[in-house]
Amino acid sequence: MIIIGAGAAGLMCAIEAGKRGRNTLILDHANKAGKKILMSGGGRCNFTNYNIDANNYISNNPHFCKSAISRYNQWNFIELVQQYGIAYHQREHGQLFCDNSSKDILSMLLAEAKKYSVEIFLNSTIKLITQKADNHYLLESSSQSYQCQSLVIASGGLSIPKMGATPFGYKVAEQFNLKVVTTSAGLVPFTLQQHDKARLEKLSGIAVNGIVTCNNIQFKENILFTHRGLSGPAILQISSYWQQGNEIVINLLPEISLEDFLNSAITEHPQQILKTVLAQLLPKRLVNTFLEPQLLETKLKSLTKEQINLASNQLQNWTIKPNGTEGYRTAEVTLGGVDCNQLSSKTMQANKQTGLYFIGEVVDVTGWLGGYNFQWAWSSGWCAGQYV
Ligand SMILES: Cc1cc2nc3c(=O)[nH]c(=O)nc-3n(C[C@H](O)[C@H](O)[C@H](O)COP(=O)(O)OP(=O)(O)OC[C@H]3O[C@@H](n4cnc5c(N)ncnc54)[C@H](O)[C@@H]3O)c2cc1C
Repeated sequence: MIIIGAGAAGLMCAIEAGKRGRNTLILDHANKAGKKILMSGGGRCNFTNYNIDANNYISNNPHFCKSAISRYNQWNFIELVQQYGIAYHQREHGQLFCDNSSKDILSMLLAEAKKYSVEIFLNSTIKLITQKADNHYLLESSSQSYQCQSLVIASGGLSIPKMGATPFGYKVAEQFNLKVVTTSAGLVPFTLQQHDKARLEKLSGIAVNGIVTCNNIQFKENILFTHRGLSGPAILQISSYWQQGNEIVINLLPEISLEDFLNSAITEHPQQILKTVLAQLLPKRLVNTFLEPQLLETKLKSLTKEQINLASNQLQNWTIKPNGTEGYRTAEVTLGGVDCNQLSSKTMQANKQTGLYFIGEVVDVTGWLGGYNFQWAWSSGWCAGQYV
């Protein structure tokens, strides 16, 4: 059997197939296996999450991932990590990261692959795939041809083309008449319209905890102002639910009602000016950008109801229409992909194309930020590995 792509999903599938004694070869056009594993999680690979659930995934078929993530779940992967003695820790929201380096995870997968005699050929670019009369697949690279009974496409999504991302998997799907759900960049920073950019650029570097809402979905995490626009975990998360033209609503003070806060401050410190009080809650630069100087200089005792409403609205109900996203250049993941309705959720095999499997990010299953995408790669790879 042959797997295209020596990334997270391809390696996991190969290990499982190897355990079953299958003669397993992985082909990858890159000069190194698992490049995205190495760069993931800021170099510490957020390899899974304590709380894995189908609700943490986006897909045209939200039920599709359920089978795989329950048959090979976060605990199974954690067990493997523990077997290898890899030190890890939990961060917020149940996210698990390596203590030392992402290299630990890649080395573990390569050691497992070696243990089960998986062969990995790097620098291999497949130019043509055909299916022969006996249903076997014939693969041709510029220098060699290969034949296999089972062909697994684990070539990932389109994010970070510099790392070797290609539309290869989608093209193979289309060649065999499988539908591909339109792809777009997910977990990606927003760029701003010119007037917003000019106003907010000076906030570059400021991070605040906030709630971001779009299309009835919300995330409460950090928001980061950058020189290009908006980033940080809350923004990356909501970007996967955002569509061109949508507005997003941001509450920069998620823990309080600013109206209640100001009303009690009026009684306690009537002589203080608004600016001083708000400086206890948010960075000064931010407050100065969001509210007019005249309002900020107003003594609390003189604030009108309308002015309190205005301040609350600007800071707790800030509505902004992003210009777009930074696109695949910086996206962590690709939304859309090979349509789940054309695949078996048990085996990952194409329903109408015997011997052809799709796993990992190339499939229309996209996880939230927080280890969900790797867990999908491990789970879908493991499932296919039981059948290929
Ligand atoms: C910067 C960054 C950080 C991330 N951090 C995290 C994180 O901490 N936690 C998390 O859960 N997710 C993270 N992700 C997402 C995660 O890396 C991916 O979802 C995951 O790697 C997908 O696994 P995969 O095996 O499907 O694809 P990949 O890991 O992308 O592997 C695909 C492989 O296919 C190869 N390939 C592509 N095209 C061809 C071709 N034409 N011919 C031959 N080979 C080909 C590639 O070279 C690659 O080796 C991050 C992504 C990025 C970009």
